[in-house]
Amino acid sequence: MILEEANIKDLDYEEAYKTILRAESTGLNRAFEVAQRVLCIQPHPDDTDLAAGGLIARLVEGGCDITYVTMTDGSIGTFDPETYPEKITSIRVSEQEEAAKILGVKRLIWMNYGDSSLRPTMDARNRLITVIREIQPHIVLTNDPWLTYEAHPDHVATGILAVEAAFFAMFPHVNPSDVRAGLRPHVTPFIAFYWTRKPNVYVDITDYIDRKIKAVAAHKSQFPPERFWETENSLRVHSRLLGKKIGVAYAEAFKVLSLKHLHCCPYTEDL
Ligand SMILES: [Zn+2]
Repeated sequence: MILEEANIKDLDYEEAYKTILRAESTGLNRAFEVAQRVLCIQPHPDDTDLAAGGLIARLVEGGCDITYVTMTDGSIGTFDPETYPEKITSIRVSEQEEAAKILGVKRLIWMNYGDSSLRPTMDARNRLITVIREIQPHIVLTNDPWLTYEAHPDHVATGILAVEAAFFAMFPHVNPSDVRAGLRPHVTPFIAFYWTRKPNVYVDITDYIDRKIKAVAAHKSQFPPERFWETENSLRVHSRLLGKKIGVAYAEAFKVLSLKHLHCCPYTEDL
C-alpha cells in the first residue's frame, strides 16, 4: 500500500501515525509464508535452534530451504578448564549437525571467528555479503542486535553484521569481486529478528515444539542431558506465553522488517 498525503491530511496525529504504521507494515506478516529460501545468521551453534527452532521446522515442512551461517567457533562454551577450546569447537559442530538433521536444515556454513570476540569488521561483513549473493535468500533471520540489555558482544556483532550485509549485498560496487565471479547482487526482501523486544509477527509452533526441543537437546555440551529438563521447561514457559498473543498453545515471536525500515526510518521501532 502506497500512502499519500491525502490519506492522513485530515487525521489527528495518533490516527495519522497509526495509518502510516499500517501502510509500512503491509506484507510483513506474510514473510514466512512466501519465503522459499531463508538464511539464518547466528552467533553460536544453538542460537537459531533455541530462538526459532519451531519456525525452522515449520518452514522446512512447507518446502523452504534453510541455511545456517554460524559466526563464531563456539570455543569458549564450557565451564570445564580441562577441555581444550579446539575440542569444544569440534563437539559443537557435530551437535549443530545433529540438530540441523532433526529440523531439516540443509546447509551449515561456519565462519569460525573466535567465540566471545566477534566484532563488526569489514572482513566479516564482506564474507556475509558473498554468502547472501550465493544463497539469494528471501529472508535473513538473525538475533536483534538492538535488544535492550544484551551484553554478549557476539550477539550484538552478529545482528549488526547480518543487517549490514543484507543492506550492502544489493550494491554491485560493494565486494565487486563477487560480481566479477558471476554472483548477482541481491535485494533481501525481509529481515527477521528473534530475541527482540517488540515483535510484530507471532508464529504458531504448537505442532513443532517437540521437534524444536529435540533439536535443542542435541546441543548436549551446552545443555547436559541430566539437567535438560530445566532448558525444556524454560522453552515451554516462554513459548506458552507467546502463544497467548495469538491464541495457540506455543508460539515464537519475531520482528520482521524490510530493508527500507533499516535506514533513516523513524517508524521502525513501532512497526
Ligand atoms: Zn549465542
